[in-house]
Amino acid sequence: MQKTAPSDLPAAGARVRKLLLDLHYGARSGHVGSALSCVEILTFLRLGCMSASDTLVLSKGHAASALYSTLAVAGEVQEDELRARYYKDGTLFSAHPPPNKISGIRFATGSLGHGPGIAVGLALGSKLRKQPDERVYCVVSDGELNEGSVWEAFAFSRHFKLDNLLFIVDRNNLQGFGRTSEVMDMSPLNEKLRAFGLAVTEADGHDFGSLAEAYESVSQAARNGSTAGIIVAATVKGRGMPGLADTVACHYVPMTEEVYGGALKLCGDAGDQG
Ligand SMILES: [Mg+2]
Repeated sequence: MQKTAPSDLPAAGARVRKLLLDLHYGARSGHVGSALSCVEILTFLRLGCMSASDTLVLSKGHAASALYSTLAVAGEVQEDELRARYYKDGTLFSAHPPPNKISGIRFATGSLGHGPGIAVGLALGSKLRKQPDERVYCVVSDGELNEGSVWEAFAFSRHFKLDNLLFIVDRNNLQGFGRTSEVMDMSPLNEKLRAFGLAVTEADGHDFGSLAEAYESVSQAARNGSTAGIIVAATVKGRGMPGLADTVACHYVPMTEEVYGGALKLCGDAGDQG
């Protein structure tokens, strides 16, 4: 698994963004807002950070289209097959990822709050098998932070010194039924995460330079503190969707021609290819 050079990550992210917009426009359905929120995070992890022995757990499984598109740009999934089969009856490329059917996806996720428990189990397994090069990455939505199981996993990661594990919170301040501050306010979030013993830092979740800087600093802090790292990545749900970005409405919405055309503007050259 060859890593993408940092200078090439923005172009790769634009390709991921374009592909998932095409998928949702074709399907006229799906969790497009949630997917657009984590494009750069998934691109950064899968193409910029991960080695062959690493595992990525997308806890917010409803953003599966972003994961499929990232894997396609990484060359792990056939893009033609993804385009032909996404959201169709009987497809493997379903609204939530299926387990052990698609290269790069080991677990079914989307039952919210369960991904961190899977991730800590994997990270502990690597420790017990004395595999220091294996790393685990888990992308969690901020809405999932309402789930007690997530905090149980955080406590577990500190207790078992899982410095081979990195969480990234997709911090878009929205969840399916409202703003996170209104549904269940988890602030002050960073203080709570630190109280659970995690190494915490923040990043702009759409900026590859910011993500790389946070990754370096939190990885070092995690090693120094013998604990898991967590990046709270500021993002915009439905980023680029005209009239829908940063709204509850973009959580699950048919992609109209107008919205599709507007959202393509963030795809740069990838969007110009039609
Ligand atoms: Mg959210």
